[in-house]
Amino acid sequence: MGTDEWSALAGVSSTVLALAAVVVALLAFRSEHQRARFEGARALHHDLTTGEVAAARKIVGSLHYGDFGSTSSPADWSQSLTSYFTLLWCFERIEAGRTALARGVIRGRRRDEAVEYLDALVAWHVAEYACGFAIARRKLAEASTEEVSDSDSASGFSRLLLALQESGLIDRAYRAGTCPGAGCPCACHHQSLS
Ligand SMILES: [Zn+2]
Ligand SMILES: [Zn+2]
Repeated sequence: MGTDEWSALAGVSSTVLALAAVVVALLAFRSEHQRARFEGARALHHDLTTGEVAAARKIVGSLHYGDFGSTSSPADWSQSLTSYFTLLWCFERIEAGRTALARGVIRGRRRDEAVEYLDALVAWHVAEYACGFAIARRKLAEASTEEVSDSDSASGFSRLLLALQESGLIDRAYRAGTCPGAGCPCACHHQSLS
């Protein structure tokens, strides 16, 4: 092999090495990118299950499953209203976070594990509050002459419910903002039987 051939071979080798370095960097970027996205999904679920949101869930849960109105005082009413909105805004953050995650999907991928992970974590919560918000809202309205103005605050929850129904994770019988009554799959309608 002549000098020219050796130098040509060396040139090819360095090109291959450079390309390999790019591939390794790209793979590392992808895995770091995905790790950050999973962490984002986990944080959104954490928000729903801890702190002031967890406290708000207890109160909205008692509206959903309990007998509110007959014994409630005005203080209970305003505390319940605050909890109702605290929880709606949490779902609004989750919906916005989910939309941002879905936008950050690496091009060429049809499925996205981070979005699927988030959907699997929050689906049953969203299903429960599809009925829960409707029942809580009705009880709040019945217990006061003050209006519950929640159309803007509830829009994120409505979009999240729809997205999860389109993914097949939530029964399509649920409707955001209204309980479908006899056809509602929520457990609150069956608790008197147990
Ligand atoms: Zn219902
Ligand atoms: Zn219910």
